[in-house]
Amino acid sequence: MTAGSGNKDFSKAERIKIHQPDANKADRLNPNNRIYVRAVHGVWTQLRRRMGWIAMAFFLLLPWLPWGDRQAVWFNLAEQKFHIFGLTIWPQDLTLLAAVFMIAAFGLFFITTYLGRVWCGYTCPQTVWTFIFIWFEEKIEGARNKRIKLDQMPWSFNKIWRKTAKHSVWLLISWVTAMTFVSYFVPTTELYQDFFSLNAGGGIYFWVMFFTLATYGNAGWMREIMCLHMCPYARFQSAMFDKNTYIVGYDAARGETRGPRSRKADPKALGLGDCIDCDLCVQVCPTGIDIRNGLQYECINCGACIDACDQTMDRMGYQQGLISYTTENKLEGKQEKVLRPKLLGYGAILIIMILLLSYATASIAPMRVDIIRDRNTLYRINVDGLIENTYTLKILNKTEQAHVHYFEVSGLTNYQWIGPQQVSSKGGEILVLPVSIEVDPVDLNRSITKMTIKVLTEIDGEQVVVEQETRFFSQ
Ligand code: SF4
Ligand code: SF4
Repeated sequence: MTAGSGNKDFSKAERIKIHQPDANKADRLNPNNRIYVRAVHGVWTQLRRRMGWIAMAFFLLLPWLPWGDRQAVWFNLAEQKFHIFGLTIWPQDLTLLAAVFMIAAFGLFFITTYLGRVWCGYTCPQTVWTFIFIWFEEKIEGARNKRIKLDQMPWSFNKIWRKTAKHSVWLLISWVTAMTFVSYFVPTTELYQDFFSLNAGGGIYFWVMFFTLATYGNAGWMREIMCLHMCPYARFQSAMFDKNTYIVGYDAARGETRGPRSRKADPKALGLGDCIDCDLCVQVCPTGIDIRNGLQYECINCGACIDACDQTMDRMGYQQGLISYTTENKLEGKQEKVLRPKLLGYGAILIIMILLLSYATASIAPMRVDIIRDRNTLYRINVDGLIENTYTLKILNKTEQAHVHYFEVSGLTNYQWIGPQQVSSKGGEILVLPVSIEVDPVDLNRSITKMTIKVLTEIDGEQVVVEQETRFFSQ
């Protein structure tokens, strides 16, 4: 669809207009070609800000939240344990993480099919941080026109202090972001103490520096370039869109023919539509596109152009909604169909995955045992003529408390357990215990006997049994 085309049918190619940004757009790292985003106020901007604040508060405060004697969310890479409140995920439970990623993917598919790229427009960290940086840019350098003039004027004291202040604030935000991100992997208080006393390892300083520069570069300089050229999500969204997906759309039938006019003029008498061609919808767009040109892959559904256009409509005394969250079917005057097979399919898979994950999480065993047979000797006959097999037990205590473990063997009769009858493990400990089992040959009727070693542990008044099958070899 192109501006001025009226209310005609859309081809798929027209609907998803994958056009390349022009040369100026691609060269946005050149200050002369940068987008100067105009500030806007309105319902959607307010909503985006609130969601941004919630996301930021969540991100910044979570590493400070205690849980017993550790922090509530701690991805302990050194010990290969992920702590999420009361849940500890070990490498053995990594399938759970795979399920979490799948839920996130299907959640994204569901939301995108229903509401388009609202993830990008409202909650994607790239967008949240970019809008925070733009907010400080506006406070320090002024509104859009002032910023354009400031960049064009020669260097002066005014320009130097404003640029220095802006980049200092950006770097400070980037550093806080980096420290917060690293504190999900290193205990927070320890990180800050070691960082400022210069006792942190080289790796910590490297990653803090890396994430500081990455945040500063992405939100300060790259901005929409990340979305246009580096984010894969923008590329495959068209597979999820259909004519009933909510997109930000311009009502060309109502808006065209566009053109300036006085507030008192009757547009019909002038042969004009409701678009006064004020260009505000373009100036507020963080990706620098003109939504009047139809659906474009650069659009992140942020709604800024809706707020800008609604303000213009209010000023002109016209009805709001020339640009709105709408569907292509609605724009074409057809019936919208919200509940459709693709959306229901994504929703059903999402619910099933969440139920499966909840069940798998609730049934994570608090203990795990691995039994490794002695690889050098299948068996040996001791001085009493008994057949002896040797094993190494690895007991993983996945809880955060110490526990006492007892042992039982099933599948063998009249066996003797050579080793401790009970052992204790600390929370999170992997206990390695060599043991032997002796059996009189008369009690064995085959050369390889299947048997099971059970580890019994009392946890919160309940007996938990973990077991593993192994073999007993004889002559
Ligand atoms: S066209 Fe509108 S909704 Fe899309 S990115 Fe630009 S301002 Fe946001
Ligand atoms: S903000 Fe509205 S009136 Fe102004 S150019 Fe954009 S669509 Fe037209």
